[in-house]
Amino acid sequence: MKLQCLGAGQEVGRSAFLLKGHKNFLFDYGLKLNPRTKYTEDISTKSQAEPPLRVKDFIDGTILSHAHLDHSGAIPLLYKDGRSPLFSTDATLDLSNLLWNDTLKIAGYEKEEPLFNENNIFDANESFFNIKLRTPIEIEKDVNLTFFDAGHIPGGVMSYLEMDSKSIMYTGDFRYSESFLFKGCDKKLPKVDYLITETTYALNTHLSRKNIEKEFIEEVKECIDNGGIVILPAFAIERSQELMYILYAHKVNYVPIYLDGMGKMATNIFKEHSKWITDIKKFKRATESVEYIKKHTQRKKITQKPCIIITTAGMLEGGPVLGYIEALGDDPKNKIILTGFQVDGTNGRRLLDTNKLLIDGQEYKPKAKICKFSFSAHADKKELDKFIDKVNPKKVFCVHGDKEAVISYKRDLIERGIDAEVPTNGSTFDLD
Ligand SMILES: [Zn+2]
Ligand SMILES: [Zn+2]
Repeated sequence: MKLQCLGAGQEVGRSAFLLKGHKNFLFDYGLKLNPRTKYTEDISTKSQAEPPLRVKDFIDGTILSHAHLDHSGAIPLLYKDGRSPLFSTDATLDLSNLLWNDTLKIAGYEKEEPLFNENNIFDANESFFNIKLRTPIEIEKDVNLTFFDAGHIPGGVMSYLEMDSKSIMYTGDFRYSESFLFKGCDKKLPKVDYLITETTYALNTHLSRKNIEKEFIEEVKECIDNGGIVILPAFAIERSQELMYILYAHKVNYVPIYLDGMGKMATNIFKEHSKWITDIKKFKRATESVEYIKKHTQRKKITQKPCIIITTAGMLEGGPVLGYIEALGDDPKNKIILTGFQVDGTNGRRLLDTNKLLIDGQEYKPKAKICKFSFSAHADKKELDKFIDKVNPKKVFCVHGDKEAVISYKRDLIERGIDAEVPTNGSTFDLD
């Protein structure tokens, strides 16, 4: 059996791994936002989403870990040349459809040729099989697939595949410990021969959730109590909902809290798939304390007095957030608080590193205070170690991490006597 890395090799984004045995299966097929490698590059170059390397082999099926764009974003591309089964969960399919259709919409606005079309999305939906958690299923002759909860977002799973007398686990993105909305990943897991694991935070130790939460709330309150407006750029899926939940839990709703952008639709999908959320009643109450922005005209009105605005895009690559920053960025009383991972080369990373960002191709330096909190939905170094000890693999493939992170983590694993690899995109490994 062989494993080929088609994306997310020494980078965060566009996950895609092809497993070739007596049948061929693809784990994820995501997009990478912004192929500009450094924000110092020509600012007139448009940021575009980049798919993984092309799949040249026939595939017997694709196993989709979760809906985030860097895992699901290029799935419809696979349906350009015909259909093959798509194994995932119903929550993942609903959230992925939201992102796929948004990709088409953005291409329409920007008058660009989209990577895929509506028919490809339709074919992906027609090829979908809903797989239940913790229930092995024979997806092809002598190929068994089991999903485990990844504790990351609704629908998010870790995949355990048994084929050709070997077992492989692919983590997708996972969170080990409990978060505001989720219980954390399944802890009762089988031993595996080969592990493909994300290593987004392989260099970090997360601070305690309680401390981050406390400092974040203090920062928010200081701003609104001084008459300012807080802008919270957030990913549509998971971070927007988590922020609503934290603000509600800390009773910060004495000023209006607004939700704008794609997070609104994602929140509705979260409510439909309530089994993934630890305390659904509290989550629903949190969403009721927030007002959705439905029309453009509302945006100007709400920015007249202290409030909190949660809006996409989380890495400031487009979306309503740029309009809010343009309107509110000159007032030093206001704050822009980033709470998500900012991939190298994105507008969000540019803002953190240089205090400037791009709006309509122009550099802009806000006077509003910029802060960053790390509300991670991923395992940190210690948790990765614990997880790897649990599944006890013969070999670990470290993927979905910045180059520095994967290389350093590989060194650590080898020092602990665990065989490890850091695949580059295009590389192939024998799984004997
Ligand atoms: Zn993710
Ligand atoms: Zn990811």
